[in-house]
Amino acid sequence: MKLSNNLEKPHVQGHISSQYSETRQALVERKTVNKYELTDFLLRSNLEDLMCLSAQLRNASNPRFISYSRKVFINLINLCKDTCSYCTYKKEPDDRYAVMLTPSQVLALAEAGKRLGCTEALIVTGERPETKYQHVRSWLANLGYKNLSELIADISEQILKKTGLLPHTNAGSLVKTEMANLKSTNVSLGMMLESTSNRLNAAGAAHEKAPSKIPKIRIKSLISAGELNFPITTGLLIGIGETFEEVLDSLITIDEINKKYGHIQEVIMQNFLPKIGTAMAYSLSPTFTYFLRCVASARIILKNINIQVPPNLSPNIYSKYIDAGINDWGGISPVTPDFVNPECPWPTIKELKKATYDSGFILRARLPLYPSYIIDPLLKNRFIHPRLKGYIEPLVDNYGLVKEDYIKDEY
Ligand code: SF4
Repeated sequence: MKLSNNLEKPHVQGHISSQYSETRQALVERKTVNKYELTDFLLRSNLEDLMCLSAQLRNASNPRFISYSRKVFINLINLCKDTCSYCTYKKEPDDRYAVMLTPSQVLALAEAGKRLGCTEALIVTGERPETKYQHVRSWLANLGYKNLSELIADISEQILKKTGLLPHTNAGSLVKTEMANLKSTNVSLGMMLESTSNRLNAAGAAHEKAPSKIPKIRIKSLISAGELNFPITTGLLIGIGETFEEVLDSLITIDEINKKYGHIQEVIMQNFLPKIGTAMAYSLSPTFTYFLRCVASARIILKNINIQVPPNLSPNIYSKYIDAGINDWGGISPVTPDFVNPECPWPTIKELKKATYDSGFILRARLPLYPSYIIDPLLKNRFIHPRLKGYIEPLVDNYGLVKEDYIKDEY
């Protein structure tokens, strides 16, 4: 059975088989379900049933809070060796919007974030721009660094020491040695898997010109982070030409890696939005029902992983995502825009707080490291570098969330 990504109508089953009921019950009881039964269950379920189950599973482990991370988005360098067919973040060196920040500019941003109650310094770069552009190599040499990862490590150190903001770097598919160099300064990493579909790297597809998006390269990075006990956020971009079966395969792959290493703290379910000036400018966004189906499936498959949908990509329909089982809204900044989706402003915290409350939950700020890694002594010792504990502990309460009196002004 092959499903397209335009599931306007729920995929209603003809009758509820005993196998279907058994699988559902096993999921409710958090028992292991093999991937074939799980996939079959998710393909057969209608959307209403899926959302009912996903919300039930979220509520069983977290009946109270939906979190977000108050961050400053540090757009360190937006040049990139790859070209994804949907991306407007990447710029060429001669583009007036090309950005290459100096360490002092980064620190000024981090300090502004600190003043406004941020706890996360999200450091974002394109994929290995120094391998493509002499311009970038010269910039790094002038600053005194051999490569981009050396610059990120040093900048992370300065942010941590001078502001106490906790660095979380998303620099694409880092290799193990690069990650190891960030372990003492970054509380977690970020890297979107996007999809496990190799079809998306074929001619004419979304990742044709993005070799770093070959699934096995991204999977290797996820595994490397696991081998280093480095908490990591990953995610899927939904609606870029994949099928629903491929979404399920991507989620099951993430789950299998996490079962082995326990380090995948969060999966972002991001809906594709076509952008002017890109090769996919005239592609359609995923339908809302298809995206909700993907979000609910993520909650069901990834039992122990936090599920996020970025609220700025779907304004005014927040309650539907809560109904689909999410427990996080991701990073929101009072200082900087979403440089990856600059056309989509962040909601205000007040707005998000009200929408979350109206759905029966309390909005709370978290660190760029999820609470379970902070409050569980075993996880804490395994996943947090010893020197980072002194930065993390003063910021959190007994839930591992940001102390409520840390943020003075809500906006
Ligand atoms: S999405 Fe990331 S890897 Fe792809 S072109 Fe943009 S910056 Fe580069």
